[in-house]
Amino acid sequence: SFQGPSLENDLEFRRQHQIPNMMTTAYYKKPVRVHQGHMQWLWDTEGNRYLDMFGGIVTVSVGHCHPKVVQAAKDQLDRLWHTTHIYIQPTLKEYTEKLLAKMPGDLKVCFLVNSGSEANDLAMFMSRVHTGAFDIVGFRNAFHGMSPYVMGLTALSTWRHRLPSAFGIHHTVNPDPYRGPWGGKACRDSSIQTTRKCTCQEGECQAEDKYVEQVEDLFRYSIAKGNLAAFFAESIQGVGGTVQYPKNFIKRVYELVKNHGGLFVSDEVQTGFGRTGDHFWGFRGHGITPDIVTMAKGIGNGFPLAAVVTTKEIAASVGKAAYFNTFGGNPVACAVGSAVLDVIKDENTQARCYGVGAHFLSELAKLREEFPENVGDVRGKGLMIGVEMVEDKESRTPLKPERMMALFEDIKDMGVLLGLGGLHKNVFRIKPPMCISKEDANFAVQVMRVALSRMK
Ligand code: PMP
Repeated sequence: SFQGPSLENDLEFRRQHQIPNMMTTAYYKKPVRVHQGHMQWLWDTEGNRYLDMFGGIVTVSVGHCHPKVVQAAKDQLDRLWHTTHIYIQPTLKEYTEKLLAKMPGDLKVCFLVNSGSEANDLAMFMSRVHTGAFDIVGFRNAFHGMSPYVMGLTALSTWRHRLPSAFGIHHTVNPDPYRGPWGGKACRDSSIQTTRKCTCQEGECQAEDKYVEQVEDLFRYSIAKGNLAAFFAESIQGVGGTVQYPKNFIKRVYELVKNHGGLFVSDEVQTGFGRTGDHFWGFRGHGITPDIVTMAKGIGNGFPLAAVVTTKEIAASVGKAAYFNTFGGNPVACAVGSAVLDVIKDENTQARCYGVGAHFLSELAKLREEFPENVGDVRGKGLMIGVEMVEDKESRTPLKPERMMALFEDIKDMGVLLGLGGLHKNVFRIKPPMCISKEDANFAVQVMRVALSRMK
């Protein structure tokens, strides 16, 4: 049990000695102070147990303190921790060989770094160095990180500061079939379809064409000929609220990008490692092979590890000047990453995401039927799920923040941790450690049902 200072004491310390308005205090009225974790479970310092339906978003892929991952880290800690950028150490090869075996096509070179922001930073830099072009395009509503370089690519105003951080970056319309100007029943690449009214005729959905036109227009109007360095896209938007795109949209954008001489970068920070169930990488669900793939979070099950994977040609352009990263690819990170890949294979994690995810989505869809005014949309793939909450189903006005937060707190008090997302923070994000069972999914849905039935 925990013997340390009180929660209030801890909070006061944060108020005095940390950057204010941090996420911890923005999330819950009474923040959760976690003390211990095991697989899909977390315990707070008061001994309360929570079913963690959000750990995956933060980093945990195969389970909190998964014994095999812990053991691999311990063994390596006993053996060696050092930089790998001056000395050769065997875990780098062991790990990156395994990781690269999961990559399609010519994606044969891997740079290891320490965070998602760092990975996207490097991908931006790589694309500019390789193409000799400068302009980068991403989606409104995307989150790609917080370093000054990628902060400009992240297009959610909550995360932006009044600084010129976006030189050469353009944001195109978010192709969101639920909240965007176009979209409807037949549009989305999803296992559960929305019940939204379609702005197009049934069976003749134009959302895909309309959103592609927006990208074409952006290229035409805003980018000098030959100056497209890269297009960045998450395979499903995470922080933005589990937003899926119209069916063939990414594939068509990919082709457009190629025609304009740019590179396509897939940000797999949230969607990689089997989470979407049908594929190991989210981009495979869109039928493309990107030029650069960035990954973080689940890659290390909570350990600081991230990667950029690309082709030999692109890597060669970066190799024209020295690249150094003290901790990138350090032996402990490699040992952990390697153990995570082993667990994913041994425990059939991807298949679990597929099966449990489909069950979870269909159980959540029942909530949409039971609470049609407020549960606006249920969407996702595998164990990357979003539930969009609204004031009423006609207007789709986002659920008011005070109602949303009260629901969120109630769900937490009943022992289930969810995430929040979207520009309006009206989307429950469900991204559990990938080891959850159907019973866990049922429990989470039941808790949501109880909270919804007593929502004011
Ligand atoms: N890309 C995506 C899609 C993310 O969700 C995040 C983090 N939320 C990042 C990049 C940045 O990762 P990090 O916080 O490790 O820098």
